[in-house]
This record gives sequence, structure tokens and C-alpha cells, in this order.
Amino acid sequence: MTGDSEEADAEVLSPDEAFKRLGNEIRVAILQELGAADEPVRFSDLRKELDVTDSGKFNYHLDQLTGHFIEQTAEGYQLRRPGERIIQAVLSGAVTESPTLEPTSIDWRCHRCGAEPIEVDYREEQVGVYCTSCEGIYGGERDQEKVNIPAERERLYYLHLPPAGIVGRSPKEAFVAASRWTNAETVTAANGICPRCSARLVESATVCRNHTTDSGLCDACNNRYAVMYRVRCTNCVYELEAIYANKLMTNLELRSFLIDHGLNPHHPQREAFLEVLYPYEEDIHSVDPLAVTFTFTGDEESISLSIDDSLEVVNVERTSGAEQ
Ligand SMILES: [Zn+2]
Ligand SMILES: [Zn+2]
Ligand SMILES: [Zn+2]
Repeated sequence: MTGDSEEADAEVLSPDEAFKRLGNEIRVAILQELGAADEPVRFSDLRKELDVTDSGKFNYHLDQLTGHFIEQTAEGYQLRRPGERIIQAVLSGAVTESPTLEPTSIDWRCHRCGAEPIEVDYREEQVGVYCTSCEGIYGGERDQEKVNIPAERERLYYLHLPPAGIVGRSPKEAFVAASRWTNAETVTAANGICPRCSARLVESATVCRNHTTDSGLCDACNNRYAVMYRVRCTNCVYELEAIYANKLMTNLELRSFLIDHGLNPHHPQREAFLEVLYPYEEDIHSVDPLAVTFTFTGDEESISLSIDDSLEVVNVERTSGAEQ
């Protein structure tokens, strides 16, 4: 943003008003056209391009967008940031039909049990990752049983990926892209920032009080780990529930530990990354107030991170195999 006049023209819209302003196909077409253009577009060119004969009507629709989504400069109309974000959101989901991928084997090891291959599928903007040899990490059905997962296929985890992310990629490439995308989102969320809108997140931890995993997943909570991390955005609809290791991903000492073991926490592309991170131990000293120690092990070395009720890491210990 430059110049005071631009700031003065900017308009702040309520969510209701923003939806109303976008609820017309000519207006959405205007945003798309300006999004595709490299430079400002003049009124007459824009109207010709969108094939709207009624100049008055076209002017009315343009007016509805001007101020918040688009701006008028001496050279013509161009997108403002909110308009760009609308186009980015539309294009991330805009593929000809909603893509799905039936369960497909990829050459990748299960980080729980070491079995290879694992299976991935894609629907509802999620890459599902399954093991056919072990009981997985999370129980439950995706989206309240909207999608049936056969009993012999157990859930390791789900990864978020917009439809645009699956287009032009093989199943394995889509899985790797989803892993990196989700890793970036996880770190942003663990830093207290909403990965969708940047607003403040409210975070909490929950503990299953009757946790037993003798038979794999817990009978009480249906998960492998008792301590779960939850975040909810104070502004948009984003929320996440995941194993607590996700929250610890921002800890410098844990990141150093991963790097010392040849793993890049910014670029998790190897099975070994998950093999170090996810078969971790949780030692619950107290539920209320919360006091838990999480221990990660790789190459005969381990690192223990203890958290208290503030959800902050209050102690870190690193032990080599020889000392244990
Ligand atoms: Zn497995
Ligand atoms: Zn449990
Ligand atoms: Zn948000």
C-alpha cells in the first residue's frame, strides 16, 4: 500500500456485506479478469472482455466492488489485497470437478510399524494416509461417517490439501506436497497464529483420563496418544485437534535434535522424520494442573520435553544412548 489517497478510498466491510458484494457472477468475473491481468484494465476493455452490453449495469457492479475488493487508478481498475485473496481462494479450489483419489499404494514406510507400502486417498480436501498392517494412530471415521473407510485400513493421519494441490501430481507427489503444506500450517498454528487468516488462536490441551493402549488405540478416546492439542481461531472457522507433538514442533531444542539427526524440520520428506517424531512416549505426571513429559528417540539418542499448565516447555533433557 502506498499513498494516502488509496488508504482514504479503502472501505471496510462486515462479513455479511462482503458476501453480499460478491454474490453476483459479473462481479466474480470482474475479479477473475483483473486477477489474470498484468496491469490495470480500463473500463471499456473490461466491459468488452466480459461481454456485458449494458454499460450502466456494468458500472453498477463495478461500483459494488470498488473501494474494498478493487480500486480505480488513472490507468484503470486493479485488484486490492482483499480482491487478490478472493481470487487465490477461488483458484485453490477451482478445478473442473471435485477431484478424488481412490486408495492407492505408494512406496513409503508406515512410521508406526515399518510396513511398506502405505496407502493414500483424497477426498473433501484431505489426503488420507493409511496403514494396512498396524492399528494406526487415530480412530474414528472421517467427517462423521460420510466416507466409509474399510476396517482393514487404519488411519495414520490426514493432511490438508486444496484441490489445486492434487492436479498434475502423482499420488506420491500429492502426498509429499500435502506433508509439506501441512507442516507449514502446523508450525504456524503452534506459534499461535491462524494459518488461514493470521488472527490469534486459542489453544488448549486435553488429556484422556482412562487411557489404555494395550490393544493399539485407546478404548476410551479412540486415539493412540492421551494428550491432544487443540486450537481454535478467534476470527475465522479454523480449528485443529492433533497429537501434542504438533505443538512441540516450534521448540528450538527439538528442532536442533532433528537437524542433528540429519532431518530438516522445514522440509519433512523422509519417513525417518516421522519415525523420530511420532512413536514418542508421553509421561503424564499430573492432569490438573497439567504436567507432561514427551520423549522422542532417534539413533539411540533421546530428547525429553516437559510442559506445564501454561502449555510452555519448562524443561528439556537430551540423553545419548550410552547414558541411558
Ligand atoms: Zn503401520
Ligand atoms: Zn484414551
Ligand atoms: Zn483464522
